[in-house]
Amino acid sequence: MTKSTNITWHHTSISKHDRRSQNGHGSCTLWFTGLSGSGKSTIANAVSYELFRQGINEYVLDGDNIRHGLNKDLGFSDYDRSENIRRIGEVAKLFVDSGKIVTTAFISPFRSDRDLVRSLFEEGEFIEVFIDCPLEECERRDPKQLYAKARRGEIKDFTGIDSPYEAPENPEITIQSGSVTVEEAVEQVLNYLRDKNIL
Ligand code: ADP
Repeated sequence: MTKSTNITWHHTSISKHDRRSQNGHGSCTLWFTGLSGSGKSTIANAVSYELFRQGINEYVLDGDNIRHGLNKDLGFSDYDRSENIRRIGEVAKLFVDSGKIVTTAFISPFRSDRDLVRSLFEEGEFIEVFIDCPLEECERRDPKQLYAKARRGEIKDFTGIDSPYEAPENPEITIQSGSVTVEEAVEQVLNYLRDKNIL
């Protein structure tokens, strides 16, 4: 028997689309933006929990955790804030490539930074979720006592106090977190994902 010497190994790299079809659901970034205390972390975590419960591949990228590790060299100057968001965007993109639904919870106050992140993704993969809560309500909640510190002048350039927050102009989802419950907010996000056939 003559052995063929002309057989070459066919390398097929696994694509995002292969991972999605194995998972049985789409992948995307749910980019939560809003004032401190508006409920980004609370709602992002509740969404992730519900997705996990339903057997969906998900992950939460949380601001404080990223600042403790990957971005620990960055502070709060305009450049550092932008670089912080850019790196998170790149990490989120890897998660989308890996087939997951990734939720991110960062104030991300500047429209240009969020638009830059959006530009990293394919159409429909970047879902901007505006957690729209009046400043007065965020300040009343003040879960980390940061507004109190900012008002006393102990924190400089605090978003909403002495640094601007640029609200999204055309977010895919807007959640009025001053008037809906966390459960209702989760349902709103899941409905959007179902509507777009991501779930
Ligand atoms: P952020 O991540 O935007 O800084 P957090 O999620 O850390 O905000 O804090 C929001 C606080 O507001 C939490 O203590 C949460 O329990 C409370 N809260 C009250 N009502 C709501 C709501 N409808 N949606 C989200 N959070 C709410």
